[in-house]
Amino acid sequence: MKSKLSLFVIILLLFNCGKTKSKDEFSVKKNTSNKAEFSILIHGGAGSIRRDNMSEEKEAEYRQELEEAIRVGYHILKNGGTSLDAVQKTINILEDSPLFNAGKGAVFTHEGFNEHDASIMDGKTLNAGASAGTKTVKNPINLARAVMDKSPHVMLSGSGAETFAEEQGLEIVAPSYFSTEKKLKSLERVKTSEKNKVASFYDADLLDSKFGTVGCAALDKHGNLAAGTSTGGMTNKRWGRIGDSPIIGAGTYANNNTCAVSSTGWGEFFIRGMVAYDISALMEYKGLTLKEASHLVIQKKLPELGGNGGIIAIDKNGNMVMEFNTQGMFRATMKDKGELYIGMFKD
Ligand code: ASP
Repeated sequence: MKSKLSLFVIILLLFNCGKTKSKDEFSVKKNTSNKAEFSILIHGGAGSIRRDNMSEEKEAEYRQELEEAIRVGYHILKNGGTSLDAVQKTINILEDSPLFNAGKGAVFTHEGFNEHDASIMDGKTLNAGASAGTKTVKNPINLARAVMDKSPHVMLSGSGAETFAEEQGLEIVAPSYFSTEKKLKSLERVKTSEKNKVASFYDADLLDSKFGTVGCAALDKHGNLAAGTSTGGMTNKRWGRIGDSPIIGAGTYANNNTCAVSSTGWGEFFIRGMVAYDISALMEYKGLTLKEASHLVIQKKLPELGGNGGIIAIDKNGNMVMEFNTQGMFRATMKDKGELYIGMFKD
């Protein structure tokens, strides 16, 4: 009996001792941890973005737009909002800007239309929504969000998606709203090159001038990841072509266990490589870090297939990666203390 009692006392002491220790450890960890409480990053497309082909004024314009967009998401996160809301509202700013190939300023199809693709994913629930080939929905990322939240489906396309958008009370605009002089000129240039057999549809030089998709990934204070992507696709696309941007796993992926990713680049290859999901899978099944997984996929696996482009991604600890194999990528990050980084070129 006596020995049973002393055993009990010893166990109790050990238990308490362990408790005190772990509490101390916790406070030490808390004080020294660099882990951001929340973070957000964006891209505005990858391609031939070089210092020597960009004027100071243009660069300033892009900087201003990228900063405006990321600050919107940052404030949502700072006020305790969700990563999903931050991603959606940040992308709205980029969609409304004529500078990027999403929403207003989207590239033209062969037939002279602007057709939009978008997707969004919630890392907590693995819920996702996407829309493809719409011509009248002002903010395609809002449609993707509505598909996720308000429909039993994951992806809607074309006129059906537009009917759903109207039913949901989303803003509908005339197709001409999206048109810009600059993107019309790009279409003419690409068509002329192809007619003169200077280049094929998939010529690398021309492809570089076709990119410009926007995307966002974020970690919120609740520990939830989300990602979203919106695009007009690729200049001179035909036959109802749909790229990677609305495809969950290719253009967008988010999973609280691993990371949130948004892609930009030559869509056909991102689809074949399941780029966004591949990065998550390499982390989940192979134990790679986000940095290692992104590097492997963008610098090795994608070019081996013949594709080019880039990704932005964030993991559950707030580590952020911006990996691209093109000459540049419009990008920005913001951490919880308000640290802002904006980049365009390879630097
Ligand atoms: N990935 C997009 C697409 O292929 C294009 C881009 O990122 O600019 O539709």
